[in-house]
Amino acid sequence: MAGTPHHAAPSVKAPELSALGLDQTRPLVIVDVDEVLGLFVEGFGAFLESRGLELRLERFALFQNIYRPGATEHLEVDQGRRHYDDFFRYGCGDIRPAPGAARALAQLSKRAGVVILTNAPGVSRLGRTRWLGRHGLDYPLLLNTGPKGPVAAGLAAQTPAASAFVDDLLSNLDSVAEAAPAVHRFQHVADPRLRPLAPSALQRHPRIDDWSELQAAIESAVTR
Ligand SMILES: [Mg+2]
Repeated sequence: MAGTPHHAAPSVKAPELSALGLDQTRPLVIVDVDEVLGLFVEGFGAFLESRGLELRLERFALFQNIYRPGATEHLEVDQGRRHYDDFFRYGCGDIRPAPGAARALAQLSKRAGVVILTNAPGVSRLGRTRWLGRHGLDYPLLLNTGPKGPVAAGLAAQTPAASAFVDDLLSNLDSVAEAAPAVHRFQHVADPRLRPLAPSALQRHPRIDDWSELQAAIESAVTR
């Protein structure tokens, strides 16, 4: 989840892999953060609680799930967005890493370059970078806005090797399918509470919610 408010914004341009310190001859694995490497909803829920609000997991959406305790109407979307931005500025360093993610990426990084592609707002750069470093996830971080297809395509086009892309959101997976159909796509939903709510399209993008299984699938897709 996360990134949903930015769909209308244009995507950022892909940087050079060499400028990210990546070997252009190796396979590439492009990985999302929220609900893939980190338990965003859990962390955002705790952050909202500290402000006297609650996040109800009633649907796979963000701003329609923020409530004042006891209220039946969700918070105004503008207010929700303000708390969301504040979370990324002040609170995104406190989320729990997804179980198994760091170990899986450490294994994958032996044979592939890893890039972290997040649709978090710019104010999160410092907190998010530190969080990644603290949890053994210190791979190059790209902040994106809007659909992820164009930037994923721009990265993947720089290597003759295979690439993979991992995200929890169908909109990002579809965007990559459209912009870079050769990139292997995998859906991953880290929080068990969200798994039954998250829309999938299994005929287009395999979904693997367990990180060790996902690691094996990515490895066989990009290194065969
Ligand atoms: Mg996400």
